[in-house]
Amino acid sequence: MATKKRKKKRLRLKSSFKRFLIYFAFFLIMTIYTVKESYAIYEDFKYKETYEYKIMQVGYSEEETKKLIEVLNEEKLNFLLENKYNETYYPIVSQKYYIDKYFLKYVEYKEYHESTSYEDVIAIVNVHANVGWYNETFDTNIKNNYLMLVNKFYHLEADYVRDDIKKISLAYSYDGNSAAEIVIENFKLMREDVEKELGVRLMVNSSYRSYSDQNEIYNSFKSVSLQYADSYAARPGYSEHQTGLALDITSLEHKNQKEFTESEEYQWLKENCHKYGFILRYPEGKEHITGYNTESWHFRYVGKEAAKVIHDEDITFDEYYAYYIAN
Ligand SMILES: [Zn+2]
Repeated sequence: MATKKRKKKRLRLKSSFKRFLIYFAFFLIMTIYTVKESYAIYEDFKYKETYEYKIMQVGYSEEETKKLIEVLNEEKLNFLLENKYNETYYPIVSQKYYIDKYFLKYVEYKEYHESTSYEDVIAIVNVHANVGWYNETFDTNIKNNYLMLVNKFYHLEADYVRDDIKKISLAYSYDGNSAAEIVIENFKLMREDVEKELGVRLMVNSSYRSYSDQNEIYNSFKSVSLQYADSYAARPGYSEHQTGLALDITSLEHKNQKEFTESEEYQWLKENCHKYGFILRYPEGKEHITGYNTESWHFRYVGKEAAKVIHDEDITFDEYYAYYIAN
C-alpha cells in the first residue's frame, strides 16, 4: 500500500516538472522571439535614419546613393534631401575633376546650359569661365613660380618682373627677345632635338613682355574696338608673356603662322614638348576654357612634371591649376 502511494506521488511530481519544462521552454522561445523582433524594429528604425535610406527614398538608385554619400558632405546631403530628385547630381559628382566647393555652381550652370557636357560644365566652372572673361579677377600667386597662372581671371601687378629674365641668343630668336633662364635652357634642348629629328630650326618670335609692352599692344587693338582687342590680345597684366615663361615659336623653315600650324615641327612639338617642360597653352577645341582662340605658336613652360600630366590627361593649364594646385 505504502509503495503504491509513493509511486503515485512520484508520478505526479514527474508530470508537473514536465509541465514546468514545457512552460519554461515556451517562455524562453517567446522571450528570444520578442528580443529579436524588437532588435529588428530598432535596426529598421536606425536604418531609416541613415542618409542611404533617406536618399534612396528621394529616388536615387543604390549606385547613385553610394557615390553621393561618398562625395558630398553633410550640409550638401541635407540640401539634396530638401529637394526633389535631380538627375544632374550623380553625373556631376562622378566627374574626374569635380571640386566639392563648386557643387552648386555646377548644378546651376548645367541647369542653364543643358547641352553642355558634364565634362565641360566641370571644366568651365573650375576655371571660373562661367562668370565670363575678366568678370571676376584674382591676383596671380607668384609663389607658384613655374606654375603661376595668368589668364583672363588671374593677373599680375603692373610692376611684376621675374628676376631671372635673360636675353635669348639671336641664334634662335629674333631681336629683342628675353625669357626666364630655365625656359631658355629647355627651349635650347628642345630645338636641338627638333633639328636632329626633322632638320628644321625653331625660332622664338616673341617672349617676355612687360606690362607696358602689353598695354601698347592691347591699346593698338582697342583702337578698332574693345571686342576686337579682347579677341586678339590679352589685357595688360593678364598676358602670360609678362611671366617670362611663355614663348611664341615658329621655325626658320615655316616662319608664317599658318604654315607653321600645318608643319611637321608643330606636330612634333604637340607630342613632345612636355618632355622639356612645355605645354601648348591654347589648344584647339578648348577656347571656352582658356578664353583664347587656338594658337599653334604659344608655348608655356610649367616644368616637366606638370607638363606631363597636362599632356597625358589632355587638359589645359587652367584646368590643371584649378584641380591640382588651387584645390
Ligand atoms: Zn604668345
